[in-house]
Amino acid sequence: MDAAGRSPKVREAPEDLAEAILRFVNTRADGAGRVERFASAKDFETWATEEGLLDATAIVSDSDASAARELRDALVTVFLAHSQTPGVNDDEVNDAHRYLRHAGMRYPLAALITTQGAQLLPAAAGVSRALGMILARVTMLAQQGDWTRIKACSNPPCHAGFVDRTRNRSARYCSPGCGSQVSMRAFRQRQRRGSS
Ligand SMILES: [Zn+2]
Repeated sequence: MDAAGRSPKVREAPEDLAEAILRFVNTRADGAGRVERFASAKDFETWATEEGLLDATAIVSDSDASAARELRDALVTVFLAHSQTPGVNDDEVNDAHRYLRHAGMRYPLAALITTQGAQLLPAAAGVSRALGMILARVTMLAQQGDWTRIKACSNPPCHAGFVDRTRNRSARYCSPGCGSQVSMRAFRQRQRRGSS
């Protein structure tokens, strides 16, 4: 049982862990129709409740929503580094690492070991449990070796999270549409340079 007295779920498969992490990072506005889901306490509460990460008695503040945005941004930076997105520099990656290290201390996890196996679960309740669950899933997925396949789209401002399913792990865009947008932009830039 976790700190809130719930029984743990059956161990999640790697695909389910990846999907849950993508649902967390893909809550940003992308300038193409996707809206910000963590803009306010109410927004974050609605999302986390839909995801089954919060119970009805949890109290969510605006600073919790901003903590969720910061955790999400740090993960997006890591995923942009995985897709070798130009413009993501070492300082940004180091800042993200530092943030994630603090988050790991702020949202403690507990090991749950049974005859079936072992898993990590949030040791706290409320919003700390919700964000701890994200960290637990990230840790369990990364331990399974599929971590660098979780990427963020290199097309700004899309930056959507996706799983790279290519054999040589070379995907950089969430969709062919984003890939052609970037090539088109580069083509126009070359044309402009050529004509000036
Ligand atoms: Zn994209």
